[in-house]
Amino acid sequence: MTADSQVNGAVPPSPSSRPRPKHIIIIGGSLGGLFTGVALKQHGYDTTILERNPTNLLENQGAGIVAGGDTLAFFERYDRCKRPVAVASEKRMYLDKSGTVVHEEVMKQTMTSWDLCYYMLRANYDHQESGYCDTPGPQPGDGNIDYRYGCTVRDFREEGDKVRVYYDKGDGGSDSVVGDMLVGADGPSSTIRKILFPDIQRKYAGYCVIRGTVPEDEASEEAKAAFVERFTFFHAPGIQNLTYTIPGTNGNMKKGKRLLNFVWYTNFPEDENELEEVMTDKDGRRRRITIPPGQMRDEAWEMVKKRGRDRLPPQMSEMVEKTRQPFVQCITDVITPQNSFMNGKVVLVGDALAGFRPHTVASTSQAAFDVLMLVEYLQTGDHAEFVRRTMEYARLIQYRGVYIGNRSQFESLPLKDYVEDRNMMSIKREDLEFPEWSQVRV
Ligand SMILES: Cc1cc2nc3c(=O)[nH]c(=O)nc-3n(C[C@H](O)[C@H](O)[C@H](O)COP(=O)(O)OP(=O)(O)OC[C@H]3O[C@@H](n4cnc5c(N)ncnc54)[C@H](O)[C@@H]3O)c2cc1C
Repeated sequence: MTADSQVNGAVPPSPSSRPRPKHIIIIGGSLGGLFTGVALKQHGYDTTILERNPTNLLENQGAGIVAGGDTLAFFERYDRCKRPVAVASEKRMYLDKSGTVVHEEVMKQTMTSWDLCYYMLRANYDHQESGYCDTPGPQPGDGNIDYRYGCTVRDFREEGDKVRVYYDKGDGGSDSVVGDMLVGADGPSSTIRKILFPDIQRKYAGYCVIRGTVPEDEASEEAKAAFVERFTFFHAPGIQNLTYTIPGTNGNMKKGKRLLNFVWYTNFPEDENELEEVMTDKDGRRRRITIPPGQMRDEAWEMVKKRGRDRLPPQMSEMVEKTRQPFVQCITDVITPQNSFMNGKVVLVGDALAGFRPHTVASTSQAAFDVLMLVEYLQTGDHAEFVRRTMEYARLIQYRGVYIGNRSQFESLPLKDYVEDRNMMSIKREDLEFPEWSQVRV
């Protein structure tokens, strides 16, 4: 299977003559797949989610997510658990190396956690019980749901008006399922993208992000002053650190019970020993992109902690020292040139469409936005508008992520430039202006 037509800037022909799909197959059961499943179910579509993981995804190991406008809009519209999803941060602060606040601005922002979003979406999709929220029952008019674990998709084929998806099962067998439409929500290393565009690869950007959380009540007074309900930054050559408050265990939002979440970008040039050291896990396996929580080698963690003591402000170094389950991700770039195939029967959403650098704080919001647009497409048949709006957003934010990421990690700029870059990423999606190169011709 290859891309039927590659458009750079042009919308494929309108599939409006296609009958309204009834059964939609979703590849990937993380946030993008669950956004899709929850929304489509509530609009009466039957859905099947195929997720390669054999169990719930990384239980209790998620970290912080900045809850952007579209993430909040999604929960506002579709969440039936009716619990708060985000903690508010009132101010942005910038520290210098000594830990002194050198710039601050009042700016409200909302922060959530990956695990809280995941369990709220599972409660909404397939009524999974957890300590995170009440579990709403099915409602009249909901479509049928089916979340299948241990299903690794390897191919798909068009079958008349339908699409057949082939997958391997955890028990060594394989199977297929047929639907009216396929939604690829299979993340930045998307198999659906690889099938359509075999030459597109995720490219290492030259730095990693070290992430972790510390319970709010274990932080020193200095760290609490810097991070509780604050969005706090530090820049130095080859380093950016941002730390903020997120919900705690089971999404607990009580003062003292929340978590302080740090996101520390630090350069590891390719082919240098330190990158090999940090990306080799406890079992001696060199991981390409991620060392998950609990898998970092002690020696690598000691090296990272020393780097923190030498290079970070004391409050941020304290977070690193007190983290019990650090994890590491290599920062990569990838974007798919087109997000709709086979006459609109196959679409990509979220990280499968564009893997943003996390500086954009927009990946989850992109997934939510893509799904809100997908619903409009299915309800109105306006395929061109779906492609135009989702592709333009993906192009612009992916480009800006590369731009601000490279400035942060590889240039040495006055603080005001970093503040401006950060503020550029806070422009509401509705207020974004799309330069000509990012536009899609209709
Ligand atoms: C376990 C996990 C934890 C995360 N934690 C955080 C976090 O703490 N903070 C943060 O900002 N972001 C986190 N992310 C990333 C965040 O979810 C995404 O950047 C964003 O929400 C968009 O999500 P997505 O669903 O498009 O992609 P992803 O979240 O990457 O999900 C893709 C899903 O597709 C599945 N998949 C991939 N290939 C196949 C295949 N061939 N067949 C079947 N299934 C497949 C993967 O197992 C995964 O569940 C996490 C992602 C995962 C998977």
